[in-house]
Amino acid sequence: MSGFTVEVEAYGWVVCKDGEAVTKAVSNKWRAGEKRDALEHAARMKERNCLRCATPFMSEGAHHRMCNGCRQSVRTMFEGAV
Ligand SMILES: [Zn+2]
Repeated sequence: MSGFTVEVEAYGWVVCKDGEAVTKAVSNKWRAGEKRDALEHAARMKERNCLRCATPFMSEGAHHRMCNGCRQSVRTMFEGAV
């Protein structure tokens, strides 16, 4: 849990973290939920060094250890092996 919540206030729905609104108000809860999901996703991202080429990149989590370039070339390698 990263602590983002969707709350209703005077001007519409907002995403809050630690009781503070972190987005502008939107007109419906569904839109605010989408913003919260995006913020939670961003909060999980963390800079790591690529396991393959050591380039720093933004990792989406423990399963994500290679930069996009290396992920692409590994995928190409596997496809080539079939
Ligand atoms: Zn890499």
